[in-house]
Amino acid sequence: MLKIALPNKGRLAEEARELFDDAGLEIRATSERSLTASLGGEFEALFVRAQDIPEFVADGAADAGVTGWDLVCESGRELDMLLDLEFGRCRLVVAAREELGVTSLDDLTGTPRVATVFPNVTERFFARRGGRVEIVPMSGSAEIAPHLGIADVIVDLTSTGSTLRVNGLHELGTVLESSARLIAAPSLNTEQRAKSRALIELVTALNSVLRARGNRYVMANVPRAALERVKEVLPGLNGPTVVDILNGQDTVAVHAVVAAAAIYRTIADLKALGARGILVTRIERLMP
Ligand code: AMP
Repeated sequence: MLKIALPNKGRLAEEARELFDDAGLEIRATSERSLTASLGGEFEALFVRAQDIPEFVADGAADAGVTGWDLVCESGRELDMLLDLEFGRCRLVVAAREELGVTSLDDLTGTPRVATVFPNVTERFFARRGGRVEIVPMSGSAEIAPHLGIADVIVDLTSTGSTLRVNGLHELGTVLESSARLIAAPSLNTEQRAKSRALIELVTALNSVLRARGNRYVMANVPRAALERVKEVLPGLNGPTVVDILNGQDTVAVHAVVAAAAIYRTIADLKALGARGILVTRIERLMP
């Protein structure tokens, strides 16, 4: 059985569940509050706090886990990062109040007091820069510390930036970029063969969903005479599939996988080449 630690609540929990569902690893919990659940086959989920997952995986209580890269870095534990799951994106930043009168990290002088929920990452970040800081550890809401006069700057997570703005704080620099990651203990690769095979299957399944999410399947009827130019618009994975249409005469159907981000451009280009009946669908899984 491959035990996978998943966040039990918070912003990462729902998206992790959705990703596993889409990969065919549906969480079959007996109740909302279950601590474990079957994911089908040889996979089992353990629901724990996102911040505890690096420890659980490093200590072998779970074979793999899904948690934020910020929390993995803060734990300082040696872990393999197997996959960037692309959700929960945020940045850990240094921020200051306007009143401090600094616009960059280089403007910080002396030994500034830094309030943060990430003391280890913060300590390492400033040590690498060769600066001295006094860490003010917080268990949450670091943004309040400069207003209370207990810190000069903060190191905190931001995604939209609105919490910093509302608290009159502006960014001085980025400490790290984070997103949800699939992690495993390094020893798993060599020690337990069956588990490492299951882990490879897990990575393949999750990866196929992530690739699918970034792409769309495009179908269109195009004039046969325009095929050469259509191939330039629809490179696909190995060039478009070209299909004859019954009684289609001068028209053929083309199918191809296109990057989701490029879909508007592709539709406009296809239209300009005389395409009709353009159909765009989502893809469930993509294994090139
Ligand atoms: P923001 O969208 O920048 O206003 O962020 C709102 C709050 O959510 C901030 O206080 C951050 O600490 C926190 N936050 C934002 N993104 C994440 C994330 N991916 N993981 C954990 N906390 C986050």
